[in-house]
Amino acid sequence: TLPRLPLFEAVSRHDPESTAVVHSLSGRTFKYGELLGDVRRARDRLSEATGRDDLNGERIAFLVENSYDYVVTLLAVMAARSIAVPLSPAFPAPELQYILNQSEASLLVSSSKFVPKAKEVLATDLTSKPAHLELAKHIGGASHEDVALGDSDPGEAGMMLYTSGTTNRPKGVLLPQSVLTAQSRSLLEAWEYSPSDHLLHVLPLHHIHGTVNAILTPLLAGSTIEFMFPFNADAVWKRLSAPFLPTADQAAPKDKITFFTVVPTVYSRLLNSYKSLPSHVQDAARTATSPEHMRVAISGSAALPTPIKTAWRDLSHGNVLLERYGMTEVGMALSCGLDFGDRIDASVGWPLPSVQARLVDMDTGKIIEEGEDIDPETGRERSGEIQLRGPTIFREYWRNPTATASEFVEGEDGQGRWFKTGDVAVRRPVPSAGHNASQPWTRGPLYFIQGRKSADIIKTGGEKVSALEVERELLSLPEVAEAAVVAVPSGNWGHKVGAIIILDHDVVTKWSPLDMRRALKNRLANYKIPQVLRIVDHIPRNAMGKINKKQLVKAIFADDV
Ligand code: ATP
Ligand code: MG
Repeated sequence: TLPRLPLFEAVSRHDPESTAVVHSLSGRTFKYGELLGDVRRARDRLSEATGRDDLNGERIAFLVENSYDYVVTLLAVMAARSIAVPLSPAFPAPELQYILNQSEASLLVSSSKFVPKAKEVLATDLTSKPAHLELAKHIGGASHEDVALGDSDPGEAGMMLYTSGTTNRPKGVLLPQSVLTAQSRSLLEAWEYSPSDHLLHVLPLHHIHGTVNAILTPLLAGSTIEFMFPFNADAVWKRLSAPFLPTADQAAPKDKITFFTVVPTVYSRLLNSYKSLPSHVQDAARTATSPEHMRVAISGSAALPTPIKTAWRDLSHGNVLLERYGMTEVGMALSCGLDFGDRIDASVGWPLPSVQARLVDMDTGKIIEEGEDIDPETGRERSGEIQLRGPTIFREYWRNPTATASEFVEGEDGQGRWFKTGDVAVRRPVPSAGHNASQPWTRGPLYFIQGRKSADIIKTGGEKVSALEVERELLSLPEVAEAAVVAVPSGNWGHKVGAIIILDHDVVTKWSPLDMRRALKNRLANYKIPQVLRIVDHIPRNAMGKINKKQLVKAIFADDV
């Protein structure tokens, strides 16, 4: 039997003939009816490999490509009441070594494809010596099978994901079953995943975006997940447009894609590659992404530049990207709504169902109540750190009680502790026109992310400037292809606002600080306009496209600092 986890119960209730997983390139499909049988067999292999029946709470790491095998492995680890630690095959050996050691994994599972990679890491000097299992050999091809569900004790079954390591070394975030279930249920209610949804999955599988939003929640809902990896813009256009082209490749899947969730850079690469598609494919691509067919296209993990949102709307016959905010520790926390009127530019929307959010003034430590978002003395917006609580929030960092203790704060009302996200936001009333509040949680003031407390809130001459807000305006200028706004230490000011920019060479080859000031003059208050400008060819980013601003400032302003 398998433990009666809510996810397994849901899977056993879905139509066994409906498709759970598709491999985009081969067209191979796997049905809901075969999933739990494969999970049970894979779970038994985990026990054999470790020689232990009881794997409750063990960390089981795995290196498996985006595929049905990945889904089975993830569920099998949870079926063993163990903690799944998905690894990125793109990580170099030292990074894998760090995670295996830090998580104290007792088993490393790999697909056949990644046996050499697994052996390479296992040959290094590891403090915990995990056993190795090549799992993919044993998965797949089963026919429909009723799998009995036993008792409902999840034990320690869950997932451990590592943060992106943007500000420090990645931290292991422990996500027990109750948290994963709460996150999925919240998203299910908000984004209304259904059995008729067909999701195109082009994300890495060691982050919350690719796992909770794009695997666990669709499985809970009975949707179809189609894997295409690594991301390739031309291949995505080919796949999206296939159902709308008369002469498409026969083997390619023909179902239309209704659900798409990626990071802003993916939209930007798609917009670029669209320009070189043949015109009949462009037409099909526009139809495929139109609101009539693509029910929801979501952006998150980093701020969505407004020009990308606008360009996507123009391309897709008016489909408005839905932006949301989340992090490894909390899953998704804030989101715009399904109604187009509830997808407001530059905003990440409202707290998702079952998420409680508040803003806390960084200087005074006082809660900023709704309705007090404007400081009556200065007339300026009050920004505050986003703090969250509720069943979707993680409980602890793995083997790091110090970090856990410092990131939570006790609630004054005795109703539980709040997690300090380290991100800063302002709230603004919803625009009166167009907003429909068609979902119950899409009410109240809107949240706008200002950036990270540690890197994006720049104190300059007694004022606070949001790096994200300035980046948003810079990115709206035709001259600017990429931008990072940072705090540059300066004797007189404490800090100056600095802009690091990659020019759009189709538009200009030169840009002076004066040009920049002129361009931003009517867009930003004077004190927000960068005082320092550096034009560069490259801005280093980590695997999730995020910038470590501390390192960036050091590298670029070494002479001035
Ligand atoms: P580390 O915690 O290791 O430094 P990280 O914070 O980048 O890395 P993640 O948990 O992957 O690791 O990323 C969460 C962060 O991403 C959030 O704290 C926030 O700063 C940023 N983020 C996510 N969604 C958005 C969004 N829609 N707009 C702006 N920022 C976002
Ligand atoms: Mg973080």
